[in-house]
Amino acid sequence: MRIDVVTGFPNLMHSPLNESIIKRAKAKGIVEIELHDLRDFATDKHRTIDDTPYGGGAGMILKAEPVFACIESLQKKRHYNEVIYLSADGERLTQKIANELSLKDNLLLLCGHYKGIDERIRKALITREISIGDYVLTGGELPALVLIDAVVRLIPGVIGDGESLLTDSFQHGVLDGPQYTRPEEFHGMKVPDVLLSGNHKEIEAWRAEQRLKRTEERRKDLLEQS
Ligand code: SAM
Repeated sequence: MRIDVVTGFPNLMHSPLNESIIKRAKAKGIVEIELHDLRDFATDKHRTIDDTPYGGGAGMILKAEPVFACIESLQKKRHYNEVIYLSADGERLTQKIANELSLKDNLLLLCGHYKGIDERIRKALITREISIGDYVLTGGELPALVLIDAVVRLIPGVIGDGESLLTDSFQHGVLDGPQYTRPEEFHGMKVPDVLLSGNHKEIEAWRAEQRLKRTEERRKDLLEQS
């Protein structure tokens, strides 16, 4: 998979894209992620990418010209399955959407900033708008990183033990259950006997029961949906 990210603030994104699972996915050649600095597509000597809103009011708006120039130059090189604008008023990101996007070849992500972006960009270039939750962040860079992380870890071969993904929360409409590692007893708290039993059938049954219990306690709505 290839992911191109269009942003006026690429420095916000470097570190998370060069650590842990994403770093390994890139090293294995499974995913290629390119950041594109919108200021490189500005035409004035100050590399301006924002301007005041028509009609007046507070806040600046991300200009149409550099965004069109950048996205259109990328589209000349390849076809993108989706051109996604990270936006507080978009459809809410879910595990289902992450699963769906993990099967695509080329994704283009646009990060907004300031008060938002010129509406004509949304009308002409964007195929999908995704929000990471009902709150407003300063820019689309952190949402883009959240989306990239949620998607990349699902691509086959990225996580060594792919089976671990299948029991993650939301993958099958329930939450994940409690996990333990050594030592057997810590601060007076013992690991449940069944996990030490070596009986794989009983362990699996206990885990399934715990996933259901946790979902009932914390997210009954997930069970009602299924
Ligand atoms: N005026 C906009 C509104 O009320 O919806 C908020 C603009 S916000 C300060 C600047 C940029 O951050 C947006 O253009 C968008 O790209 C990004 N952003 C903010 N919150 C987001 C969220 N919850 N999910 C995805 N992107 C978000």
